Amino acid sequence: MNDSIKLPSKVYDSAIQTAANIIQYMDVDSRQEMIDALRSHVANYAEIEEKFKSLKEISAEYVQNKKIIQQRSNEDPEQENNDWAVERENLDKEYSKKIHTIEVDTSNNQNLRKFNQQIEQITSVLSGQQETPGDDNDDMVVTGSMNVICPISKTKMIEPMRNDICGHVYDKASVMEMIKSNSKSRCPLMGCNNSEFLRIDNLSPDIVTRLYLQRNP
Ligand SMILES: [Zn+2]
Repeated sequence: MNDSIKLPSKVYDSAIQTAANIIQYMDVDSRQEMIDALRSHVANYAEIEEKFKSLKEISAEYVQNKKIIQQRSNEDPEQENNDWAVERENLDKEYSKKIHTIEVDTSNNQNLRKFNQQIEQITSVLSGQQETPGDDNDDMVVTGSMNVICPISKTKMIEPMRNDICGHVYDKASVMEMIKSNSKSRCPLMGCNNSEFLRIDNLSPDIVTRLYLQRNP
C-alpha cells in the first residue's frame, strides 16, 4: 500500500513545487499560461492514475471469474467440455472489451483536487504578502486553512512535513522524535482515520506551509 501511495504523491509534490516557483518568480503575463499548462499535465496524470485503478479492478474481477468457471467445471465433469470453453471465451471477450473501453472520471481524484487547492493556497499566501508588506504580527499563526502550529509539539513549525496518507502536517523534528521513540506510532491527530504506522517514507515536505512560513517568519 505504501509504495502505491508514494509515487503519485512524489509526482504531485514536484508539480506543486513547480507551481510555487512559477507563481513566485515568473512575471504576471506568462504566469497564468504556465500554470494552466502545468494543470493540464497534472490532469493527464490523474487520468492515467484513475485508468490504472480501473484496470486493476477489471483484472481482479476477471481472475476471480476465471477461477469460478474452473471450480464449476471441476465440480461438474459431466457437462460438455465445449460449454466451459464457450464460457471461458465469453469471459475473455468481455474482459478484452472492458479494458479497451475504460472511461474514467477525474473529478473525484483526490490528488488533482489537492493540487488545485494548493495552487489557490500558494496564490493567496503570496498575494497576502504583497498586500501587507512588513506585516510582522507574530500572533497571526493561522490564516484561512493555514495552520503553522505542530500538533505534536504545539509550537510553530520550522520544517513542516505532510503525511502522504492522511495529509496531516507536523514539524519534522517532532514527528521524527515520535517515530524514533516508538516505531508503532500512528498519526497523532484526533479523529484521523489513517491507521498506518508513521514512516519516514510516507512524509513529504509540505510546500504550501513552508512557503507561508518563509513569507511570514
Ligand atoms: Zn492523520
